[in-house]
Amino acid sequence: MATAPTPMMAQYLTLKAEAPDCLLFYRMGDFFEMFFEDAKVAAQLLDIALTGRGEHDGERIPMCGVPVHAADAYLARLIRAGQRVAIAEQIETPAQAKARGGKTLVARAIVRVVTAGTLTEEVLFDGKAANWLVALARAGNRVGYAAADVSTGAMELGEVAAGEVDALIARIGPKETVAPAEAGAAVDGRASPIAVPAFAGTTAIGRPARDFDSAKGEARLKTLHGVATLDGFGDFGRCELAAAGGLLAYLDHAGKGTLPFLSAPTRRLASDHMAIDAATRESLELTISTGGARAGSLLDCIDRTVTSGGARCLAADLSAPLTDRAHIGSRLDLVGHYAEDSLRRAGLRETLRRMPDIARALGRLSAGRGSPRDLGALRDGLSGAWTLSEQLSRTENPPTLLTKLAPDLSGHGALIDMLTRALVPEPPIDAANGGYIAAGYDAALDALRETGGSGRREIAALEARMRVATGVGSLRIKHNNVLGYHIEVPARAADPLMRADSGFTHRQTLAGVVRFNSPELHEAASTVGQAGAHALAAEAAHLEELTALAVAQASAICRTAEALARLDVASALAERAVEGGWCRPSLVEHPCLEIEGGRHPVVEAAVGKSGGRFVANDCRLSEDDRLWLVTGPNMGGKSTFLRQNALIAVLAQAGCYVPATSATLGIVDRLFSRVGASDNLARGRSTFMVEMVETAAILAQAGPDSLVILDEVGRGTSTYDGLAIAWAVVEAVHEVNRCRCLFATHYHELTRLAENLPALSLHHVRAREYKGDLVLLHELAEGPADRSYGIAVARLAGLPPPVVARAKAVLAKLEAGRAATGGLAAGLDDLPLFANLVEEVAGDPLREALDAVHPDALSPREALEALYRLKSFD
Ligand code: ADP
Repeated sequence: MATAPTPMMAQYLTLKAEAPDCLLFYRMGDFFEMFFEDAKVAAQLLDIALTGRGEHDGERIPMCGVPVHAADAYLARLIRAGQRVAIAEQIETPAQAKARGGKTLVARAIVRVVTAGTLTEEVLFDGKAANWLVALARAGNRVGYAAADVSTGAMELGEVAAGEVDALIARIGPKETVAPAEAGAAVDGRASPIAVPAFAGTTAIGRPARDFDSAKGEARLKTLHGVATLDGFGDFGRCELAAAGGLLAYLDHAGKGTLPFLSAPTRRLASDHMAIDAATRESLELTISTGGARAGSLLDCIDRTVTSGGARCLAADLSAPLTDRAHIGSRLDLVGHYAEDSLRRAGLRETLRRMPDIARALGRLSAGRGSPRDLGALRDGLSGAWTLSEQLSRTENPPTLLTKLAPDLSGHGALIDMLTRALVPEPPIDAANGGYIAAGYDAALDALRETGGSGRREIAALEARMRVATGVGSLRIKHNNVLGYHIEVPARAADPLMRADSGFTHRQTLAGVVRFNSPELHEAASTVGQAGAHALAAEAAHLEELTALAVAQASAICRTAEALARLDVASALAERAVEGGWCRPSLVEHPCLEIEGGRHPVVEAAVGKSGGRFVANDCRLSEDDRLWLVTGPNMGGKSTFLRQNALIAVLAQAGCYVPATSATLGIVDRLFSRVGASDNLARGRSTFMVEMVETAAILAQAGPDSLVILDEVGRGTSTYDGLAIAWAVVEAVHEVNRCRCLFATHYHELTRLAENLPALSLHHVRAREYKGDLVLLHELAEGPADRSYGIAVARLAGLPPPVVARAKAVLAKLEAGRAATGGLAAGLDDLPLFANLVEEVAGDPLREALDAVHPDALSPREALEALYRLKSFD
C-alpha cells in the first residue's frame, strides 16, 4: 500500500520534478545525496557504494552520496559521462527553519544546473580546449546559430544553410547543443527537426520552442549589453536572434536566473572562413585524430603554445582558416616577427609562460563562483600584460598586428592597483577560512585581526599559567569544531580538576584524556571567535566588492586575454616553424597550389620517431594543370602526399608557417577531403554509400577556388563499378567543378584520361624491386606508375610464399588476357566526355519547359494544366 512520503522525501520529489532530466544532487549536511534511479545511475558511473534509506511506497529507497568538498571531481565525471546535474542546496540554516515554525525541515532549492556546455569550474574541463554551447534555430532553409563559451565569455552569432549544420558543428565542436524541441516531444528529449548531428562529446537536446524567439532574443541581448540597438555588433538576421534567444534562455535555466558574463556577440560570415565540412575535418584530423583524441591531430603536432588561452586560440584558428589575404598576412607578419629573432621569441614565451588564465578566472568570477585565487590571477595576469605592453612598445618597426594588440594589453591600472593593495601575494582558492585580504588594506579588518591575535596570545599565556597553577605539565588548550577552545589533560592527572572548587568545568571524557572549560578561557575564546567571525565577514565583503569591480571591466579584460592569446599563438607558431624548418606561405590571387619540399607534419613526426626519414615532395597545381592523378603501390605514400597539401593550405590560411621549403597558393574557399570506403572500414563507420554521398556533396559544391583531395574513391565496390565511378568523377571534377584536385587511385586505367583532359596530369609514387624485395621510395615522380606492385606489397606484408607464387601465375594469365582485349578500360576512350553529357541534359526540351514554369505565380488550376502539358512531352 502506498504510504505518504516523509516530509523530506516529499521535498526531494518536488525538487526532482523541477529537473526531471537531470541527476539531482540533494544537499544534506556535508553530502550531496542522490536517491532512486539517480542513485543507481550515479553509483554505477562514479563507482561508489549504493546504499538505502527509509522506505517509499513500501520499498527501500536506493541512495548514494558524495562529499560536498569533493563534489567537483564527481561532477566532472558525471558531466563527462553525458549527464546533467541539478544542485539543490539548503537555502536556510536549521535555526532559521526552526524560527519559521514547527517544522524543522530546512528549505532547499535548485540553485543551478550543471551541464557540459555551461561549466565554469576549472576542474571540470580541459584548460586547453574551448567549452562551447551552441543553440540552433531554423527559418526556412537557413539555420541561425548562437555559440557561447561561458568559461571565457566569448560569443558568436551566425547563419548557415540547413545542409551545413554538420560542418558548423564540426568546426565549433560544442560540448552541448540545444534546439527547439520537436512538436509534442518532451523538453530535454529529442531536438527539433533541425538534424543536430551527434558528434563525439556533444549532446544535442531540445528546449521549449518558445525560447527560440527572435524578438525575445534581441531584447535579451540588448539588456545584457545595455544597448538600445544591436547595430554596433552586427546586422543580425531573424534566425540568429532566435538562436540567441534560445541560448540565453538555456543559460538562464542552467544558472537559475544568474547569467554568466558574455562579451558582445561577433557576427561570423560563412565567407570569412574556408568552408570545411565534417567529413573533411575528420579525414584530415585537424583538431582531433581518428581515435577521437587531440593526440595525433595536426593541432597537437603544431601546438607549442605556453598558455591555455593560446592553446584555445590556436585550436579556433585551425578550425576556421581565413579567406582574407590581408588578414592572413597580418597574422603571418606577427609569426615572422618572432621567427626571425630567437631572443625576442624566447623572452615573450618566458613572460607568457608565467601568466595565469585570466579569461577563465574572469569567467568564474562573473558566474559568481570566483575565488580569491581568481582575483589573484587577474592581478598577476593584468600586471604581466601591462609590463609586456611596455616591453613591446620599444619594438622597432612593429608588425601591424602588434601595434593593434598593444593597447589591449595595458589600461587596467586602477584595477591592478586595487587588487595589489587588497590581496595577499598567494590568495587561497577557498574563501571560507579568510586570510586573503592583505594587511594594511582595511584598518577595521586589521584591528579585528589584532584583537583575534591578542586573544590567541592570551590563550597561549593562559595555557602556561594553568600548567603552573595545576602542576600538570602536559595540560593543553586545544580547539575543535564541536567544543571550540577547551583544556585537555591526561586522564591520570584529571582528578584535581574535577573538584567543584577547581575553577574548571568538565566537558568530555575520552579514552586517555579529559576535557574541561574555564571562565577565563571562555572569555578569551569568545573574543577570538567574535573577532574571527567579524574578520571573515569583512573579508567576504571585500571579496564581493573586488569581484564586482573586476566584472565591471569584463569586456576590457577579455580583450587583454585575447591579445595575450594571440601573442602566444604567434610566438608558438614561430617556435614550431624554426624547429621544423618551415616557411612563410605566400597567398596569391590566382588559384594555384605550388609547394616545394612539402611534408606531412604528423607523418613526419611518426616516421622520425621510428628512425626513418620523411621524403619531401613537390606539388604544382596551376590553372592549366589543376588535376593531378596520383598512382602507385599501396603504402607508397599517396594518401600522405594528398593530405599534406591539404594541411598546408589549412595552415597557410590559418596564418601559420607551413612544412615546406616554399609554398605559394591561391585562397581556397572550400576544402574537401574524401577517403575511399575500404580505407575507412577499419573505423567501422563508413560504407560505400557514405563515400558516394560525400562524393556527391563535393561535385555539388566545389568551385574554381576549391581544393579537393580524393583518395581511392570508388574502391568500395566491384572493380568495374569502381573504375566507372572514379572515371566519371574525375571527368566531372575536371570539366564541371574545375577546382584544384589531387586524386589518388590504384586504377591504372584512369591514366588514359590524360589523353582527353588537358588540365589533368599523371604522377606516381616511386617504388623499385630490388633483389625481389619491394622498396617504397615515397617519392613523387611524373607520369603513370609502370605497374601496381600489389603482389610485391602482399609479399612484404608476409603472405605465404606459395600464395604469392600462385598470385603471380594468376596475374600473368590476366595480363595476357588484358593484352588481347584491351583491358578493363577497353573502349572507354571512345565515350563522349562527361561535360558533353551535361550539355545534352541541359538541352532537354522537357527541362526547358519545366524551367519556364513558376509555381508561385500559378493558380491551382493553371498548375494542373501545366502538369498535363509537361506530361505530354515525350
Ligand atoms: P598509400 O596511400 O599510397 O597507401 P600512405 O600515404 O598511407 O600510402 O603511406 C603509407 C606509409 O608510408 C605511411 O604511414 C608512412 O609511414 C610512409 N610514408 C608515406 N609518405 C612518406 C614520405 N613522404 N616519406 C617517408 N615515409 C612516408
